[in-house]
Amino acid sequence: MKYPFFFISLFLLTACINQKQDKVLYTELTPQEFRERIAQASVAYLPLGTLEWHGEHLPLGSDGLQSYYFFQEVAREAGGIVMPMLFLGPDRIKQVGDKELYGMDFCTLPPDHRKYYETQQLAGSAYRIEDSLFVSILDATLKQLSRAGFRIVVGHGHGPSTGMFQAHAQEWEDKYGLKLINCWGSEWDSEGKGIMVDHAAMNETSLMMAFRPELVKMQNLPADSTKWPVGVGGKDPRKYAGAKLGKQIIRMNKERMIRLIKEVLAETI
Ligand SMILES: [Zn+2]
Repeated sequence: MKYPFFFISLFLLTACINQKQDKVLYTELTPQEFRERIAQASVAYLPLGTLEWHGEHLPLGSDGLQSYYFFQEVAREAGGIVMPMLFLGPDRIKQVGDKELYGMDFCTLPPDHRKYYETQQLAGSAYRIEDSLFVSILDATLKQLSRAGFRIVVGHGHGPSTGMFQAHAQEWEDKYGLKLINCWGSEWDSEGKGIMVDHAAMNETSLMMAFRPELVKMQNLPADSTKWPVGVGGKDPRKYAGAKLGKQIIRMNKERMIRLIKEVLAETI
């Protein structure tokens, strides 16, 4: 009778340890858990999101959600802590009449193009701020992360936000003693198999199908394949997207990012 008890205790102890290792969200850590995780790997992950139209089939928070879940998977293996998502970000802007239009609102394609749609204020978008304000928010965030003891910050998500994070990287690295990384630059980006490399098309739809399948409503897209879905940029999600592809993209990019983070960690120690 003693042996089953021993094995059950061992199983419960292992489960507890695993659960502790799995805690990667900044908002959920106690100070002691924070000390332990940052001592193990001083990496912060910053999901750069939006509340933005992502086709009729994807949730408005798709950008933040994809980077949030991807970062949690990376953090569980490479170590580090995942920040809450940002939902404000930069984007192109155009004044049309009395309306300000952003990003995917305006279609830059000629009317005879297959993917053309009427320029319009797309439902649900509420994220755009001035470039200079976004830079100030990132600057303040990075200052706080440096002060808290992080040495590496991985920022990724909404394209223009990631672009700005990358464009100012050197300046912030010098200012705050950090190393900044994003997830672009994989050999699979051009094949649509990087992390968030289109707009609500094959790539982002597949990632959402892998992370949160219940939030993806493919039935909301036109059934007629000759009709292009409004505000979708990239390969047709109706034809090419799938959870299996999403999982493959996550696996490949996760391995790449873990390798990269471990290399940078080894250099910064
Ligand atoms: Zn997106």
